[in-house]
Amino acid sequence: MFDKIALIGIGLIGSSISHAVRRKGLAREIAISTRRADTLEEARALGLGTQYTLDAAEAVKGADLVVLAAPVGAYEAIARTIAPHLAPGTIVTDVGSVKRHVLSAVGPHLPEGVHFVPGHPMAGTEHSGPGAGFASLFANRWTILTPEPGTDPKAIETTAAFWRALGADVELMDADHHDLVVAITSHVPHLIAYNIVGTADDLETVTKSEVIKFSAGGFRDFTRIAASDPVMWRDVFLTNREAVLEMLGRFLEDLSTLQRAVRVGDGEALETLFTRTRAIRRSIIDAGQETDAPDFGRAHEDDGTSR
Ligand code: NAP
Repeated sequence: MFDKIALIGIGLIGSSISHAVRRKGLAREIAISTRRADTLEEARALGLGTQYTLDAAEAVKGADLVVLAAPVGAYEAIARTIAPHLAPGTIVTDVGSVKRHVLSAVGPHLPEGVHFVPGHPMAGTEHSGPGAGFASLFANRWTILTPEPGTDPKAIETTAAFWRALGADVELMDADHHDLVVAITSHVPHLIAYNIVGTADDLETVTKSEVIKFSAGGFRDFTRIAASDPVMWRDVFLTNREAVLEMLGRFLEDLSTLQRAVRVGDGEALETLFTRTRAIRRSIIDAGQETDAPDFGRAHEDDGTSR
């Protein structure tokens, strides 16, 4: 499909792309570039590419597909570095979790004749680094592409075909709309998780050891999300501020309503909401985006104890 793919950033997402590309034979060469020498050596030890360099400009030479897979805050500097070394006809795509910022941070630096087709694979885990990736990460998950109007349709189609070859379903979306959708489906939920885990950690009347010991009451599911990469998520909130604040405002309003229902003992309001939310979970399972296995698919002993 490609002669040479350059992966700039080789963490969870970059290494998963490498695994999937090699498994499906989508490129003759894979150049890997990252910021730190230790990370590059880890990638080399894992055999994730055919060329390894700390110089992103070197990695993109001769590449017909360049994938930016670093935290979004690093994109602009990377775009400036690689721009003079991109051949006409090259497709540049990315995997960043926000899209309007990426369009304005990267797009203006790319030379004429280079096609920019931003993307966001809606797949991930709480693990990071080159050792965290696996080939099936994108299988049956959505990848959203947000090219600007006027982008070469062939470049869009090639990028979509690339993600489909990795196992993903692909949808095109306007960048602003994408940022609103992920603000409520991903960014605000992460903020809530970071917040509740932080609050529990700050408590004085309930000890830290009690929080850890009795975490199975719901808390541990938040801790999984709150274990996500700090730098990546810092950059998400710095670059999707407007959409996050809008959704957070809605969330806080609804939380106040819920707080009132608890305070006045409005059982009907609580039950009505909880019934509605249970149906949403069912829809997500029916759409194949989550497992129906009890306790989020955790393995348990046969003695029936799960708590
Ligand atoms: P990650 O595992 O933390 O990996 C980030 C990679 O980028 C590391 O290899 C890091 O290597 C490298 N890096 C950092 N700064 C760099 C720079 N200035 N130049 C080149 N490489 C640099 O993160 P990830 O989860 O793969 O996330 C990567 C991107 O995917 C982010 O933009 C994120 O928004 C997006 N994304 C993440 C998820 C998710 O669930 N994790 C899902 C969808 C999309 P060093 O050690 O060398 O710094």
